[in-house]
Amino acid sequence: MWRASVLTIFPEMFPGPLGLSLAGKALAAGLWSLDPVDIRAHAADRHRTVDDTTAGGGPGMVMKADVLARAIDATAADSRPRLLMSPRGAPLTQARVQALAKGEGAVVICGRFEGIDERVIAARGLEEVSVGDYVLSGGEIAALALIDACVRLLPGVMGKEASGAEESFAGGLLEYPQYTRPAVFEGQSIPEVLTGGDHAKVAAWRREQAEKLTRERRPDLWAAYRNRPKAPKS
Ligand code: SAH
Repeated sequence: MWRASVLTIFPEMFPGPLGLSLAGKALAAGLWSLDPVDIRAHAADRHRTVDDTTAGGGPGMVMKADVLARAIDATAADSRPRLLMSPRGAPLTQARVQALAKGEGAVVICGRFEGIDERVIAARGLEEVSVGDYVLSGGEIAALALIDACVRLLPGVMGKEASGAEESFAGGLLEYPQYTRPAVFEGQSIPEVLTGGDHAKVAAWRREQAEKLTRERRPDLWAAYRNRPKAPKS
């Protein structure tokens, strides 16, 4: 079973939205597990202190290395990757999500305050992961996003209609436009090719649209797609 452990000072935020819909049903069915760990429970003092003032001065507080290390040591005595949610991390990609989903799970660490003491990162082999170039007030929402992206790829979680194979990023492209009934919406029809029943034409149209959208919106993805190694002939 794919196992997520989440280290946080707000364990009550979990499963939160992951308790609903596809992820929630899969959680209830035992297709994955979620173990929120309260970092505060590993504090050493009566006040359960997890943060302290910034060395060198400046505003805000920093999460303490000793407390976080104890929380990690009590949780992660296995080979799951230890991910520290951090705006300094490598941006999360669908490729990384796919790799994580194939593994045993993840230990996800949520920072708060100005971040965490630098020394615990190397000492516990934490891999910094970002969900984008903006700053959240804590790692919890980033952790929810990461876990959601992984869980929907686990076997048995999504219906076959959403196998993941044709989605945005799966083949290096953004997804083509989608339509459903009614046939005419405020004067706009569904593109004719999609209602003609010619599957080869539909596939060609979708690829063309996916390439056009990617070229227009994401020059970075487009460049990578054009330079991708060609699949071996089978
Ligand atoms: N002072 C830090 C930001 C701290 S934000 C800096 O400038 O880099 C507090 C916590 O929120 C971080 O420790 C991290 O766990 C989380 N967080 C904020 N933005 C994030 C992002 N884009 N991706 C992942 N985690 C993020």
